[in-house]
Amino acid sequence: MTTIFEKIIAREIPGDIVYEDSSVIAFLDINPVNPGHTLVVPKQTFENIFDGDADTLAHMMRIGQKIGVALKETGLADGVNLIMSNGTEANQEVFHAHLHVVPRLKNDGDHFKATHKKYAAGEALLVASRIVTGLKI
Ligand code: AMP
Repeated sequence: MTTIFEKIIAREIPGDIVYEDSSVIAFLDINPVNPGHTLVVPKQTFENIFDGDADTLAHMMRIGQKIGVALKETGLADGVNLIMSNGTEANQEVFHAHLHVVPRLKNDGDHFKATHKKYAAGEALLVASRIVTGLKI
């Protein structure tokens, strides 16, 4: 299924593009958390970290860093959140991969604070070993 981001990449619909190269494009989020909220989007079609290739994902982060630094240097941000939602359960809404570069300003609220839990005794060790078992590096 063609997503809205593929239409922006193909220039079928407009986007406020701030950067483009052979593998990624970056444009303003249409509903910004704060002005300058940018999405870094691969030109290659994949949904998220579960089907994307590591080099493209790494390049998205490299460009996300550059845009975050530009936001801070131009006074559009005091701090920056880099966020990627992967899967419906992680609140992904557009199923073409994208990295949010979110400018944060002093006292703009706790937009991304989740409720944190505590581990029971011994649970963290079990959880860590499950992750180690699943890691394919
Ligand atoms: P996510 O929940 O991570 O999938 O975020 C999708 C983001 O895409 C949201 O923040 C939307 O505001 C943004 N978005 C949706 N349509 C457009 C569009 N046409 N141009 C720019 N951003 C968009």
